[in-house]
Amino acid sequence: MARGDVLSHIDESELVALTRDLVRIPSVFRRDDPAANEAAVADYIRRWFETEGFAVEIQQVAPGRENVVAWIGDSGGGPCLLLEGHTDVVTEGDPREWAHPPFAAELRDGRIHGRGAADMKGGLAAAMIAAGAIKRSGRTLGGRLVVGALVDEEGDMLGVRHLCQTPIGRALSAAIICEPEQNELCLEQRGVVWARVTVHGRMAHGAMPEAGVNPIQGLGALLREVPRLERRLRRLCGRSRYLRPPTVTPTVVQAPLVGVPQSNVIPSTAVATLDIRLTPGPEEPAVAREIDGACRAAAESCPGITIDWTPVNGFRLATRVPRGEPLVRAMVAGVREATGRQARFGGVPGSTDGTILRMTLGIPIVTCGPGHRLIPHQVNEYVDVAELVDAARIYTASSVKFLEQ
Ligand SMILES: [Zn+2]
Repeated sequence: MARGDVLSHIDESELVALTRDLVRIPSVFRRDDPAANEAAVADYIRRWFETEGFAVEIQQVAPGRENVVAWIGDSGGGPCLLLEGHTDVVTEGDPREWAHPPFAAELRDGRIHGRGAADMKGGLAAAMIAAGAIKRSGRTLGGRLVVGALVDEEGDMLGVRHLCQTPIGRALSAAIICEPEQNELCLEQRGVVWARVTVHGRMAHGAMPEAGVNPIQGLGALLREVPRLERRLRRLCGRSRYLRPPTVTPTVVQAPLVGVPQSNVIPSTAVATLDIRLTPGPEEPAVAREIDGACRAAAESCPGITIDWTPVNGFRLATRVPRGEPLVRAMVAGVREATGRQARFGGVPGSTDGTILRMTLGIPIVTCGPGHRLIPHQVNEYVDVAELVDAARIYTASSVKFLEQ
């Protein structure tokens, strides 16, 4: 059967309806609310795949938080391609700020509006429809096509970390991350380290600072080191055509850490978090050495102070996949066949589940999905139906191409 026949199994109205259904099931995770998680949307997706005749595995990641993993085709010797999406969405914030209700999935002017429309129930629906089209076409694959609807991407990425420990995860050979990137082929993703820096001093009376050591002065010294740290990391990381250079951004400053804040008390500790974004190049120890250096310089400028730091959730290094990878070549051909256009290349400003797949399994990943790159986490989130349909066609053509090798 020709590939054109597979694409003819993609139905726009079905894709739109599926996306709207997914958006209408709120899946904001709230730790203190047992009903606020991915359970309802995961259940919907499981039933959808079962109806379509897929093999389905439910992976219990945490209470109420289940990965849905569905697949067609055999892995027996052939490659395993993952179409990856996450089921959680970030908070809608204040619903009054939205022009359309955040969970109504209104369809207006060729756009679906709502929280998660772009990030990323649209991309997830496109992946489901793509896999469904291949299944319905009856086409035999030279490997296995897996769709993963994973939990907690917006949190600690527990879903993808769990997947990487399971047999079906370990068998993967490549992944398309269906995050909103305007359907560009993103071969690079920035990495992130959240360096939580603790400055230790000695408690004392505010009127007698000479009797203590003020950690807040150490914190000030550390913040003065930030521009230099940023410059050093920019030198360390290679230049990227698609990514902004590394940045170091203080995001949390806190003192005292324990006890009641009081105007006349010098606290014993102060804490800052530095949000450090990286581009491809250096390994973990080289980045850690630069952060060590900034802490040391700050400590040396404040006698009596000690400074240490830890990476919150570990290192997520930047990723880069070479153009010559079979997955990239399959997607370049897939884009041409699906849209009649040349592939556009881009880069992902943040990290995604793909970062974990690349770091843990070492497999090539390409991030490509429908939705404007800057729209995630904003009010008035939307996805263009035309882009959604293109994405489903790209996933279909690229998967067929990749799995016939
Ligand atoms: Zn996302």
